[in-house]
Amino acid sequence: MSVTKAYAAQTATSKMAPLNIQRRTLRPDDVAIDILYCGVCHSDIHQAENDWGNSIYPVVPGHEIIGRVTSIGPNVTQYKVGDIVGVGCMVDSCCSCSSCHAGLEQYCENGMVGTYNGKDYYDGTLTSGGYSEHIVVREAFVLSIPDTLDIKAAAPLLCAGITTYSPLKHYGVKAGDKVGILGMGGLGHMGVKYAKALGAEVTVFTRSQSKVAEAKLLGADHVIVSTDADQMAAATLTFNFLLDTIPVAHDFNPYLNCLKVDGAHIIVGLVTGIDPPIWGASLITKRRILAGSMIGGIAETQEMLNFSAEHGINCEVEMLDIQNINVAYERMKKGDVKYRFVIDMNSLKK
Ligand code: NDP
Ligand code: ZN
Repeated sequence: MSVTKAYAAQTATSKMAPLNIQRRTLRPDDVAIDILYCGVCHSDIHQAENDWGNSIYPVVPGHEIIGRVTSIGPNVTQYKVGDIVGVGCMVDSCCSCSSCHAGLEQYCENGMVGTYNGKDYYDGTLTSGGYSEHIVVREAFVLSIPDTLDIKAAAPLLCAGITTYSPLKHYGVKAGDKVGILGMGGLGHMGVKYAKALGAEVTVFTRSQSKVAEAKLLGADHVIVSTDADQMAAATLTFNFLLDTIPVAHDFNPYLNCLKVDGAHIIVGLVTGIDPPIWGASLITKRRILAGSMIGGIAETQEMLNFSAEHGINCEVEMLDIQNINVAYERMKKGDVKYRFVIDMNSLKK
């Protein structure tokens, strides 16, 4: 075991504050990683503040981790000391169910182990995420980071990147498709980049007039200000796919009406109840699909990293010292970040 400096929430209402935590002694297939950068995902806030009702404290968030390998267990073959690697939202799964065999570890039938707020399969200890100096992770859940990616900006690919890439690929988004991205935050701005790279015509739906010009700079072909009923009505029956990254309850009906026949509305943001309710007619009358998607499997995450390197795709980031994490959370709650905070973990040494 080794002591590691971290930042944690001790209760749903306490601010993030320093805490020393333990990292396990390496198992034969473990990789020890010195964390260089960690992205700040809205899920970190949900978990720290117990929005989903399942938080176990202390919560050390962070699942967009880039670091350098400092030691390896005797059975590790893919990584060596000094390699730059990534860790995303999961650090283990049962590896024996049909989902795991299909490369869909995120849907493990026995439960994947989250990078934080998860229970280790072997000793039952609580997992702690990337707002920390070091982490120890099973080799099979460590990603290789292509040399050409800027590693500061690549950290958020490990969650925001894969969460948007995976459903676009799964639903076969292709050249000429009309794709709408709902909410332009960390996930949303990556959704714009991947949908464009796949050849789609991309529209951003945002509440924020101030993001209209930037959405276009990031590659969006069109922008709809979602609070403008006329703009929403004009988009009726336009889209093949909507990727919904909005983190809070919102009215789905006006968005569903923007889908063509057989169009799909894919939820990645909202895990709690839909309020107001969806009208059956919003789906039935045009054979529309309402679906959900969670991150991506390990092989697909590696594919996304390689795709990002090939297409020159990275996140737009604001660098952050860990001491300012509480300010960052407040800004994210207001939609005020362009477009992902990334913590320089060197700041933890201050
Ligand atoms: P961000 O805070 O970076 O972005 C969310 C965006 O949603 C905002 O920028 C804003 O865009 C829009 N938004 C925020 N509040 C509202 C509101 N009240 N009404 C309408 N729109 C709103 O969050 P992330 O991108 O990091 O995460 C988005 C969601 O996805 C979170 O709930 C997170 O937990 C979830 N998530 C899901 C994953 C999965 O596997 N399915 C993985 C990772 C995250 P704008 O200003 O343009 O309106
Ligand atoms: Zn995340």
